[in-house]
Amino acid sequence: MQIWYDSDADLGVLAGKKVAVLGYGSQGHAHALNLKESGVDVVVGLREGSSSWPKAQEAGLNVMTVPDAVAAADVIMILLPDQTQPDVYATQIEPNLKPGKALAFAHGFNIHFGQIVPPQDVDVFMVAPKGPGHLVRRLYTEGRGVPCLLAIHQDATGNAKAVGLAYAKGIGGTRAGVIETTFKEETETDLFGEQAVLCGGVSELMRAGFETLVNAGYQPEIAYFECIHEMKLIVDLIYEGGMSRMWYSVSDTAEYGGMTRGPKLIDDSVRQKMGQLLEDIRNGSFAKEWVAENKAGQPKLQKLRQEWKSTLLEKVGAKLRGMMSWIGKKS
Ligand code: NAD
Ligand code: MG
Repeated sequence: MQIWYDSDADLGVLAGKKVAVLGYGSQGHAHALNLKESGVDVVVGLREGSSSWPKAQEAGLNVMTVPDAVAAADVIMILLPDQTQPDVYATQIEPNLKPGKALAFAHGFNIHFGQIVPPQDVDVFMVAPKGPGHLVRRLYTEGRGVPCLLAIHQDATGNAKAVGLAYAKGIGGTRAGVIETTFKEETETDLFGEQAVLCGGVSELMRAGFETLVNAGYQPEIAYFECIHEMKLIVDLIYEGGMSRMWYSVSDTAEYGGMTRGPKLIDDSVRQKMGQLLEDIRNGSFAKEWVAENKAGQPKLQKLRQEWKSTLLEKVGAKLRGMMSWIGKKS
């Protein structure tokens, strides 16, 4: 495995170059501010009238429309929502690309699934922080960083890797470590992780546990603390010291019960279903469904969002968090 640190990356590669960061959301604000404080010449590209425009200016950043930012820049990082990137690319980015420029992404979906097909004469790379934008920003200000993945899709100039590494250094990624990957590997593992484990798997596991207790007649508030609230305490232990710290910290009863009963629940049938999810990602059927869902205006997503909001679990949680005033403050 290839892994790069600060001393492997040269910010000088970006000297005399302008970097456009398109979008000022979760990732965009973090990349733009970190790059600027690393001494990189940054411009933020936004829609005219965007509420982020004054915000970015107040933070001391130079702001332009997307077409102007692309035209002015040598390196263009696209940090718009994945589903809006293909449209903005076709109408505002591609017309302003010139040979030798670099196009950058923080997630591989649009390149890997052919939603964006850049011309052969530009570099195409990915610097994907493995953490949310607010953490990319906060850790940078603390002299630390979020680990990143680096992938090269097209190396038209012969410089794509050096530019990508410099970019990763500029946002603080090389402080924690930058791992080499491909657009294919990043896209498929990212989608699998969020579907099977991080977002889909964990939320449904918690919901199923909560509902099992409530349906058996236990108080919803108790079920909430047991199956939802305590998840953070467990995950924090794993984050800090791995599974062994978690197993060490819980009681022997929890350790024995968890180690013997966990595999009965997450058994081969679940692994088989995980394999099917992965297959749907790899053969493009998930991507096809998601692209169509966006073309239709996200009807299914909106319905599912409403369903989640109206669950008993969410109502009980809102009430209980209200009693604990320190929870829910944005860090
Ligand atoms: P976001 O939704 O937080 O921000 C998107 C930004 O784009 C906003 O500033 C929005 O105003 C702007 N925008 C939307 N439509 C626009 C348009 N038509 N023209 C100009 N600006 C427009 O998005 P995000 O979560 O920061 O995601 C950006 C990229 O980073 C995606 O590729 C995503 O997969 C990737 N990524 C995100 C995370 C994360 O934790 N959020 C982590 C790793 C990678
Ligand atoms: Mg991810």
